[in-house]
Amino acid sequence: MRIETLAVHAGTEVDEGSQAVTPPIVLSTTFARGADGTFPKGHIYTRSSNPNRAELEQAVAALEGGAAAAAFGSGMAAIAGVFQALEPGAHVIAPGDSYHGTVHLLRQVFDRWGLAFDFVDMRDPAAVARAMRPSTRLLWIETPSNPMLHMVDIAALGALAHRHGAIAAVDNTWATPLLQQPLALGCDLVMHSTTKYLGGHSDVLGGIVVTRERSAFFERIETVLRLGGAVPSPFDCWLIRRGIRTLPARMRVHCENAEILAQFLAGHPMVERVHYPGLPSHPGHELARRQMRRFGGMLSFEVRGGREAAMAVAAGVEIFARATSLGGVESLIEHRASIEGPDSKTPQSLLRVSVGLENAEDLVADLDHALSTLQ
Ligand SMILES: *Cc1c(COP(=O)(O)O)cnc(C)c1O
Repeated sequence: MRIETLAVHAGTEVDEGSQAVTPPIVLSTTFARGADGTFPKGHIYTRSSNPNRAELEQAVAALEGGAAAAAFGSGMAAIAGVFQALEPGAHVIAPGDSYHGTVHLLRQVFDRWGLAFDFVDMRDPAAVARAMRPSTRLLWIETPSNPMLHMVDIAALGALAHRHGAIAAVDNTWATPLLQQPLALGCDLVMHSTTKYLGGHSDVLGGIVVTRERSAFFERIETVLRLGGAVPSPFDCWLIRRGIRTLPARMRVHCENAEILAQFLAGHPMVERVHYPGLPSHPGHELARRQMRRFGGMLSFEVRGGREAAMAVAAGVEIFARATSLGGVESLIEHRASIEGPDSKTPQSLLRVSVGLENAEDLVADLDHALSTLQ
């Protein structure tokens, strides 16, 4: 089955008890034993496993071409689950422009825990090779990156990790399995904030880790999930599984609208620079063409006139909501340096856009109007 079919059907069957076509939400925290003392459906207690979580895990594992998945209560819980599966003293290499939550998690939690880490510009694989230590256990990859849309070569970095005996993991939140498949490119783990495109409607928080094979390392991640207990609720799992059913259809429009918006912005006199891998002028364009099916729904741009001008554009839009996050049906715009805080390296003139499913011409007109206030 192809990915569009998997998105609708994987892990989801007509319910045996009720013949319901749409899966019921199973709120029960506990499951009955049969007369012989066994658990006929395999579920015992909802922290360990639940039918809605199992459906979600099977669906995302199928979309990513993985052997299994572990669904957490948020993207950050999923990332923390991967780091907690490492031994104290292990060394992690993460991108210099990692999602800011990942940076803060390593610095504020896992530093004290005893993990060593370096942040490296992964556009330069030689720099990653130089940062490798005998204790390096995990290479954390993120592409396209936030908020500069830098592209890094997943296959090359995965091979490099393996030459040094390290695990290669990819935060695939921005690309989604529709556009980019890190396991097929040779990596070991894929992580998603399912809060974003997989859920797709900005109404549920979640995270997931998918593994290429049932490794001992993945089993430690599952142990962290079940014993640490950062599990998503059955309703959260149900919402995300429902969101995934329309993911392929939504991604088509996200990509199409983003391509139109990027082209419009690239031609606008008040826009200094557009960061979108679909533009031939983007330094990662050729790599994106090789490694992605399309170029995604995220872009950022730098406004002429610095912070003040960027703030004025954000203030001038009517359709876009001024909000953080991404991947929902509605378009969002955000002054990224403000949310990242005082140590942010993001240009003050930069606005990040999550392109939604509205009519592309309406979105262009809204930004055009907001930019016209600058002239
Ligand atoms: C949002 C996000 C996360 C964190 O996920 P939460 O669901 O907010 O905990 C991690 N990585 C990326 C790339 C994200 O966009």
